[in-house]
Amino acid sequence: MKFGGVSVKDGNSILHCANLIKKFSEGNEVVVVVSAMSGVTDSLLSAASKCSSEASAGYIKLFVAEMMKRHYEAVEKAVLSDEIKSRVIQALERLFDELEKVLLGISYLGELTKRSEDYIVSFGERLVAPILSASLLSLGVDSVALTGGDAGIITDKSYGRAKPLPGVYELIRTRLEPLLKIKRSVPVVTGFIGSTEDGSITTLGRGGSDYTATIIASALNADEVWLWKEVDGIMTCDPKFVPNAKFIPEISYQEAMELSHFGAKILHPLALIPVMRKGIPVRIKNVFNPDAVGTVICANTKESKDIVKALSLIQSSGIVNVSGAGVDFAEIMAEVFRILAEEKVNVIMVSQSSSELNLSIVVDKKDVDKAYKALKVIENGVTKVSKIENVAIVSAVGAGMAGTPGVAGRIFSALGKNKINVVMISQSCSEYNVSFAVKSEDGINAVRVIHDEFGLNA
Ligand code: ASP
Ligand code: MG
Repeated sequence: MKFGGVSVKDGNSILHCANLIKKFSEGNEVVVVVSAMSGVTDSLLSAASKCSSEASAGYIKLFVAEMMKRHYEAVEKAVLSDEIKSRVIQALERLFDELEKVLLGISYLGELTKRSEDYIVSFGERLVAPILSASLLSLGVDSVALTGGDAGIITDKSYGRAKPLPGVYELIRTRLEPLLKIKRSVPVVTGFIGSTEDGSITTLGRGGSDYTATIIASALNADEVWLWKEVDGIMTCDPKFVPNAKFIPEISYQEAMELSHFGAKILHPLALIPVMRKGIPVRIKNVFNPDAVGTVICANTKESKDIVKALSLIQSSGIVNVSGAGVDFAEIMAEVFRILAEEKVNVIMVSQSSSELNLSIVVDKKDVDKAYKALKVIENGVTKVSKIENVAIVSAVGAGMAGTPGVAGRIFSALGKNKINVVMISQSCSEYNVSFAVKSEDGINAVRVIHDEFGLNA
């Protein structure tokens, strides 16, 4: 079971999660994975960067004091025994002391490496796991708090986006099985963070707690992974965009993965990889409605008459265009993607037209300028680089689209009828996904038009 940042945002919420764990751990072996309290990861990141440039010792004291306040208040509410309370507070004190020292260290050095950034950001999860674990203990459930590294999540050294090493599965099993089977304990593992072989802390990328959960589930051959959220499950579209979106009971790994890549905040895009191989289902459950079954993400979904199953919308992206690549197309493309990889630009989607050898690359809005400037170096008399800012990406996903003629026709006629201009189109050979770009201000309208066209409205 994984609990995200909003589910553990304060003491009452943590106690609520502990009660859910208690309820479902009767008769089951449960491993819990937990995120930092909502907003904490972001504030740790911004404190880290402040410390490397302008922070005073006073600022650091204040920052740590605020973090203490929030976490101690949580302990007060979530842990129902004075003795357990004072033990967890001692553990947190050590962590706060360590955090203050690290931040001071960064401010003395005036420099923040990726490695120290991961170390600092890890405090978010490292502070919550002991609180949730203590809360469980105080409810009479045996529990132990572990860091990702303790639990066996050993990674390479690509700080900020670390990859688990092939041996993790074996290691996780040897670390966690005795706790589950002999001690009958509920391990509470920090999501998102791992450790290199020589013991320095790494992170798996933003939103990485889902990934932690599925890695552990795969290692232990779990029956299911439950990702607890604040909604009943996956919807045909984010109700923020389409108010009459409806609940989806079952969705395939492939479909869920496509949706996550295209901005639907379902789960970390890599998270399904460890469980797909073994066919372990992932269930999205609602902390506020725990008896509802939720959406199951699994291998074989029942035949569905829905051609388009769900839609996602990324409201703010941009396009970088490389035109006139001519006969050196392959060489230039290799260079383009090498540069984007070097600049760590996340490529959302690509479309290529063969005649003019024009390549359009959709990236996050925040990366447009970086990508554009970096790619300028390949310009010569023939090859040109340009950019379009402020586009929205709509993505229609559904396994039923594969081999069904006329889907693209319906999508684009519906847009045409509503006078929505399409800037760029992409469909890969899997045919599970048709994506297109429109002007930012047309995004919501476009997604509503398609939702309606395919009868997805509740
Ligand atoms: N706390 C981390 C983040 O905010 C990891 C997670 O929430 O999954 O990205
Ligand atoms: Mg989070």
